[in-house]
Amino acid sequence: MANMLVDRIENGTVIDHLQAGIVGKIAEILGIPKLKKRYVQADWLSSRTCPEWRKGLLKVEGYFLTEEQYDLVALLSPDATVNIIENGQVTSKHQVHIPEIIEGLIECPNPRCITRHNEFPEDGSEKEKIEYAGEVKSIFYYDPQTKKFRCHYCERDFSRKEVQLKIDYRQFG
Ligand SMILES: [Zn+2]
Repeated sequence: MANMLVDRIENGTVIDHLQAGIVGKIAEILGIPKLKKRYVQADWLSSRTCPEWRKGLLKVEGYFLTEEQYDLVALLSPDATVNIIENGQVTSKHQVHIPEIIEGLIECPNPRCITRHNEFPEDGSEKEKIEYAGEVKSIFYYDPQTKKFRCHYCERDFSRKEVQLKIDYRQFG
């Protein structure tokens, strides 16, 4: 692991303090392995500030996160930090934040929620017919105080562990 840590990058992104155990999954969701860029990933590292904690780390040369990818990292790993490296120097540091409005990125866990139904029920009304006409994009409101996600449609609250990422991995390929 130590050799990975000293592997410097010249221009790119270092994502640190990722939740341990899911670094490979995060790299996959961000589409990093497919980019054919030089990157290192390390998992279950001990943290300098708190030795009993474990964390993950990703360093990617020639790669910068989009706004949506920042949101994805925050959803997967709310304590992550993102450092931008230019000419071998850290030029900016960011703490990720789960946005207060999340559109289309997560799926509602409520099986009866309209966002989970794309087919019009046979006994449905005309109004329902319109609502069911196309795929409904999920909208959630995140409350940083309670750390709950509220579905715009069924108005139920869910924890971060309950909501699931709704993402087509290929869009970042
Ligand atoms: Zn819902």
